[in-house]
Amino acid sequence: MDFQLNEEEQAVVEMCTQFGETEITPRIRELEDAHELPRDVLKKMADLGLLTMTISEEDGGSSLGPLAYALAIKSIAKADAGLAVTMSVTNMVIEAIRKFGRPEQYNKYIPQLASGDMIAAAFALTESMAGSNPMEMRTKATIDPNDGDYFLLNGEKIFISHGDASGIIIVMAKTDPALGGRGITAFLVEPEDEGFAVGKKEEKMGILTSSTVSLNFDNCRVHKSRILGELGKGLNIAFSSLDSGRIGISAQAIGIAEAAFEAAASYATERFQSGKKIIEHQGIQFKLADMLTKLNACRMMLYQAVSLKAAGQPFTQEAAMAKLFCTENCNQITYDAIQVFGGYGYIKEYPVEKYYRDARINTIYEGTSEIQKIVIGRGIMNSFSQ
Ligand SMILES: Cc1cc2nc3c(=O)[nH]c(=O)nc-3n(C[C@H](O)[C@H](O)[C@H](O)COP(=O)(O)OP(=O)(O)OC[C@H]3O[C@@H](n4cnc5c(N)ncnc54)[C@H](O)[C@@H]3O)c2cc1C
Repeated sequence: MDFQLNEEEQAVVEMCTQFGETEITPRIRELEDAHELPRDVLKKMADLGLLTMTISEEDGGSSLGPLAYALAIKSIAKADAGLAVTMSVTNMVIEAIRKFGRPEQYNKYIPQLASGDMIAAAFALTESMAGSNPMEMRTKATIDPNDGDYFLLNGEKIFISHGDASGIIIVMAKTDPALGGRGITAFLVEPEDEGFAVGKKEEKMGILTSSTVSLNFDNCRVHKSRILGELGKGLNIAFSSLDSGRIGISAQAIGIAEAAFEAAASYATERFQSGKKIIEHQGIQFKLADMLTKLNACRMMLYQAVSLKAAGQPFTQEAAMAKLFCTENCNQITYDAIQVFGGYGYIKEYPVEKYYRDARINTIYEGTSEIQKIVIGRGIMNSFSQ
């Protein structure tokens, strides 16, 4: 495997790093304290093509391949994981619309995201009684008795990232509850749709620049032309989207971990205790060595999943392994970074407490670590069953 970045990938890293250093990091306290999605920053990210990196140039996007995309997410996450998750979910949603949608569907939304007229796209699967197991969802879509061309959606989705700022939302609903998983359909819901409302906005521990809201559907009228893919194939779309999404979350976790490691290594060369720099104490040096080794292993896991995706090969198991490994290690690395900083690490004036807060969600959304193990385990069973 070739680990050298090509010129385009290198340029993407430089562009995103510079964007983070100039547009995000200097304002990060202000952006976090606002507890709002920073629309102005997202607009600039759209202008740079960061919201359509999973769409080819031919289709109006800015794709330079899956590795360039993962590197872009990682580089933005180094500055702020909240913005990186908006970028990741938006790219995941538009990729699904391109992959499963009809031309009139993706030709409507891609230009809006590319121009920044739309600053986010959302994915609504989770419900209060259906988290890890989406088959238990209660949101239903039934044919409008007054007009057979429309569906009426009823139910509530919770914990939806930037559901309050998205111009398009993929919503999963049961069209035939008797069929279980095969009775779930994906709908393209727009915020202007009759019967759609944004509900509770959550207060969170981390990723404060990403909003997390519930969405209410009260006889929400959606034309049948806004079914994404085929009737009853929603769960396939959800699982396929999450495979790609997990690459994004792995990259995000690596970005946070990289930022935490660099902050810790740099602090360790400046801070003196007992007459020497703390990096000269073997206990701290070994901790940094462990952090960097884990970080490097995370990069390899991500590269493997990305290279399979780029080659058009199945990558479900590799994406699940990357997400499991990168997100768990991201938590450990940010924990250790605070330890290297000592008491200062716990203080907001220093950067590592944010990394620690932002790390925590990664083992939970887009499938918890336990669910990744189920996905990996299922792959093992399939491979070894006679
Ligand atoms: C900030 C944030 C943003 C989010 N963004 C989105 C979004 O944009 N769109 C969206 O649809 N959802 C989103 N989610 C929801 C997220 O994906 C779910 O929270 C997650 O899938 C877990 O579901 P749950 O919270 O209901 O936990 P549960 O499913 O209740 O799980 C609780 C615990 O039980 C474990 N568990 C559950 N089932 C099993 C099993 N079969 N075997 C072993 N262990 C199991 C879990 O791993 C977990 O540890 C978001 C959540 C948060 C907090």
